[in-house]
Amino acid sequence: MPDVVCPAEDQPVDVLIIGGGPAGATAALYAARAGRTCRVIDKGLASGALGMSREIANFPGFADPLPGARIVEAIRSQAERYGAAFATDRVTAVSLAGPVKTAWGAKGSYEGRTMVVATGSMGRSAPLAGEERLVGRGVSYCATCDGFFFRDQVVAVVGSTDEAAEEALILARLARRVHLLLPVEAPRGPAELVSQVEAAASIEVHRSTLVQEILGAERVDGLRVRARGGAPFVLPVNGVFLYLQGARPVVDFLGGQAELSAEGCLAVDGFSQTSVPGVFAAGDVLCKHLKQAVIAAAEGASAAVAADRYLSGHAKLRPDWS
Ligand SMILES: Cc1cc2nc3c(=O)[nH]c(=O)nc-3n(C[C@H](O)[C@H](O)[C@H](O)COP(=O)(O)OP(=O)(O)OC[C@H]3O[C@@H](n4cnc5c(N)ncnc54)[C@H](O)[C@@H]3O)c2cc1C
Repeated sequence: MPDVVCPAEDQPVDVLIIGGGPAGATAALYAARAGRTCRVIDKGLASGALGMSREIANFPGFADPLPGARIVEAIRSQAERYGAAFATDRVTAVSLAGPVKTAWGAKGSYEGRTMVVATGSMGRSAPLAGEERLVGRGVSYCATCDGFFFRDQVVAVVGSTDEAAEEALILARLARRVHLLLPVEAPRGPAELVSQVEAAASIEVHRSTLVQEILGAERVDGLRVRARGGAPFVLPVNGVFLYLQGARPVVDFLGGQAELSAEGCLAVDGFSQTSVPGVFAAGDVLCKHLKQAVIAAAEGASAAVAADRYLSGHAKLRPDWS
């Protein structure tokens, strides 16, 4: 039995962590070991930079090269052993004002007396042609939220992460046909999830296929796509669910409530705190010259210790050898 037991999901925790990569999972480990209740909201193990890396050979303590997801899982289970809770959800909005911070996801809302933002830097830099014009008119980012509107219709899911695979499986129960468009050759994510996708009769997987444009005057009625080495063609669909990635800090869900640097990264002070008191940040969502898993993990530890000090009412950090 862990020392710290997390309250139910509708109750505020001491430390609410958004993102469960090496930064967020290590923040959870340190928060739980400091006796703080904490919950990590993460949208998918293979959606982050480390979770999707095929082979990592330089994370201290893991001598043999192994998939990054195994390292993330190891940190997560270490954190769980001390009472940290993990929820799978994609955070789409937050409210940072006031003593309790709230995050909203597709499955519900989550509250914390402090928040650690650790969402990494796999965000997209530019929308697809037609995307902004057709958001809410067939373009969606959440099957759990919008899938029901596409019952018995034809939809596309675009992306190769486990989040994309999970959302395709949700849509497969609702839509008549699901086209899963993978920008790469093979879907990422746990083998069990990949085989569920491949076994689903209503899902058609299109490998190495890029979307060039989302088509439709008033509503989405098709996609202009191109498979590697082939000519562009139009795929008729009623809706498209996007789970694409790039190399920008993932800060869109903050809605401008915390200051960003000129490069678009979250700005923090020397104690990992953002411009919002009680909101901390760690890992690749910050601007730094060396993006490495061990550095993200170290920053997660710093952010958790800073959150603990904040909750205790200590303005300044002291050396902590525990
Ligand atoms: C191809 C590649 C190879 C690499 N190789 C190495 C290497 O060999 N060695 C090394 O040390 N580093 C390597 N790195 C860098 C390393 O992976 C990153 O520096 C590190 O993963 C950053 O950790 P993080 O926790 O900040 O972000 P991430 O690992 O990206 O984790 C962020 C987490 O946040 C979640 N998330 C994002 N948005 C949301 C949201 N809205 N709601 C809920 N959850 C969300 C994601 O699902 C993810 O789990 C590599 C990176 C890449 C891309």
